[in-house]
Amino acid sequence: MTGVRSDMDLNRHDFQLEELMTRIKDGDHRLIALQVPEGLKMQALEMMDAIETDTSAKVVLAADPCYGACDLVHDKMQMMGVELVAHMGHSQMNIDSGMPTQFIDVTYEGDPEIQPVLPILHAHREGARKRLEGGSDAPLTEEEAQERFLDAVGRTAALTDVKLGLVGSIQHLHLLPAFCERLEEAGFDVTVPLGGARLTFPGQVLGCNYSGDDNNIGHYLFLGSGDFHPIGLVLHTGKPLAMLDPYTGEATEMSLQRIERILRQRFGLIMACQDAKRYGILIGEKPGQMRRTLALRMKRMLERHGKKGYLLALEHVGPELIDFYPVDAFVNTACPRIAIDDAVKYAKPLITPFELEVTLGEKDWGEGYRFDEIP
Ligand code: SF4
Repeated sequence: MTGVRSDMDLNRHDFQLEELMTRIKDGDHRLIALQVPEGLKMQALEMMDAIETDTSAKVVLAADPCYGACDLVHDKMQMMGVELVAHMGHSQMNIDSGMPTQFIDVTYEGDPEIQPVLPILHAHREGARKRLEGGSDAPLTEEEAQERFLDAVGRTAALTDVKLGLVGSIQHLHLLPAFCERLEEAGFDVTVPLGGARLTFPGQVLGCNYSGDDNNIGHYLFLGSGDFHPIGLVLHTGKPLAMLDPYTGEATEMSLQRIERILRQRFGLIMACQDAKRYGILIGEKPGQMRRTLALRMKRMLERHGKKGYLLALEHVGPELIDFYPVDAFVNTACPRIAIDDAVKYAKPLITPFELEVTLGEKDWGEGYRFDEIP
């Protein structure tokens, strides 16, 4: 299968448009919407040209920001007469947008060497072994147990093995089988975690879902770039994480100092909410971010504590859209990463549902941090 290639730097990205072209022709579609992630928007016009040249369909670019398959084009495009949505660079998740949707894989060909990451992996496995061995020791005082089994986010999680969990972001997942072999040759016992219904492929992770984690996995290797997924993965699992970037070949690790800084910031926001009486509860309108039941549960919980919660539904969440409401703080039930990654942009505390439960004394921070996962 040949893909449409860019001449620009993303020239090693392969866009598999053939299936889409066939579906457009078979369905005799006249108007389709193209939805492209932020990092590939520069090439959107080139893709539109390719589709309009090869088929008789006209293409509308859904030009709003798009960060995931949680954000599928829905009813507004239907009102515009769009018959089919082509969603690029993310995989199908357990939601129905109400629109026929063709998911288009984007893969990156870069195949980094494993050598640079091996020393980090050896050190992480050693750490995981210590944790595992610590678990079989004779009785410990509570303090000792805390010290020995605490993971990076302060939980006393058990380990049953020290396997290396191999994960990646979607454009690099095709590398996993070859990496699995190479890492096993290098002496690692590798597992490619299988996640829940929100994830399509083995080894896949999303910024809001790391459901493939289990007690057999002692540490992780992430194939991908940036720290968005790594931060979420460590906040969720508490386990050591090495990163290998297929774009640069560079190997790094998620530093515990970084995670500690985030946890300190989260705790600071919880403290800042101690006297809050009025909350805005954000509900995401995007199909895969809408957590109505959770939002209503937060509202009822606030009421039980004599506080007020106002439900605010938004497609996009940003400081300019909410800061002016006369409330003391916000609880976010839309994309979990808005509260974690963007909190500093907001004038008022923006916390997760778990953090509200800690604020109200329903959950205990001392038992470790709970990442806000969308299942
Ligand atoms: S992290 Fe946020 S943007 Fe990404 S898939 Fe999850 S809800 Fe969507």
